[in-house]
Amino acid sequence: MAGRAARPRSDDSRCRTCRAPILTQLVGDRAALTVTADLTALDAEQQAAIREPNRLIWCLRTSKYGPPRLTWITTWHRTDCPHQHVTEHRCDRQSADTLF
Ligand SMILES: [Zn+2]
Ligand SMILES: [Zn+2]
Repeated sequence: MAGRAARPRSDDSRCRTCRAPILTQLVGDRAALTVTADLTALDAEQQAAIREPNRLIWCLRTSKYGPPRLTWITTWHRTDCPHQHVTEHRCDRQSADTLF
């Protein structure tokens, strides 16, 4: 077969359970933590609604060069941040009993 088109990377990631677009990335000082982030951007209200001790919010820093990078949002973060904010991916099936 001639003219094989360049294909996107085969690890274009989607959750195997719910097919949501996700990004799995090593983050942290020593790339010690593997994060699976939901690629759905959250607005400020949504971030406040889901915030809990065990659920981190990530700033998804994109650039023209290179892949997007997840950056941990710690205590303070500018409110006019131009990047998308995302959180860990959790499948609906697994999170129903942790809402309260
Ligand atoms: Zn941000
Ligand atoms: Zn899922």
